[in-house]
Amino acid sequence: MSTFWIGTGWKMNKTVAETRRYVADLRARLPGEVSADYALFIIPPFTALAAAREAIGAAPVLLGAQNMHWAEAGAYTGEISAPMLEEFGIDLVELGHSERREYFAETDATINLKVKAALRHGFRPLLCVGDSAEERAAGASAAAVVRQVRLAFAGLAKGEINRCLVAYEPIWAIGEGGVPARPEEARCVHVAIHVALKELGAPSVPVLYGGSVNLDNAMALAGEPAIDGLFVGRAAWSAEGFASLISKVMAARKNIRSTPAEAMSAIG
Ligand code: PEP
Repeated sequence: MSTFWIGTGWKMNKTVAETRRYVADLRARLPGEVSADYALFIIPPFTALAAAREAIGAAPVLLGAQNMHWAEAGAYTGEISAPMLEEFGIDLVELGHSERREYFAETDATINLKVKAALRHGFRPLLCVGDSAEERAAGASAAAVVRQVRLAFAGLAKGEINRCLVAYEPIWAIGEGGVPARPEEARCVHVAIHVALKELGAPSVPVLYGGSVNLDNAMALAGEPAIDGLFVGRAAWSAEGFASLISKVMAARKNIRSTPAEAMSAIG
């Protein structure tokens, strides 16, 4: 069975003290043995990375940052560079979240620069892509997200793309008021992303789903063969919520034995 990813991004939430409590609580609640079939991660704000790293200790939880600048250093007031993040021992860096695209004017071109910088520094980029409600209504969801994937990975070697993760996060599905994608709707977009990745020479890049994942819908989404992981916001902002979701998904997936490639051929 290929690795299934389950992670949470905290956005602009949690102080250092709250982070310490969260990680300690999560460690206490995680199943005794997290098998190698799972990769778990948390993405706190920059200010809590050091505390999170220390609190994680030897627990099987990867650590990510929510953004980074593409330059090594320079006159970019308020920004954080890859060398700064290296000091925290991060594993992942989330890039291109729709909130960054919308509120901070991130473009496909700057996201591409960030992906390249992250790879240079040995971080695994978690590229977020998403369709708007208008694109969805026009039946253009798959085309919109495939375009974002291609532009983010433009100029990368196959081996570099293979070190990335993609998260499909419909803009209409995330955050307060978001409506989670139905599993079959997410499936269509995930298959389109997998096809594009295959064309780019990187067929084994995991494609996670994010957007109003919760305890009620996580199992159905995780049961979709083209979905290689879940990227969770609000439902995992308490350690109890995250641990429950992990346990439920693990229990539900016990009998699933297929790779993304097998899933794609099963879907047709
Ligand atoms: C997100 O914004 O990346 C996200 C997944 O949020 P939520 O699960 O709260 O919709």
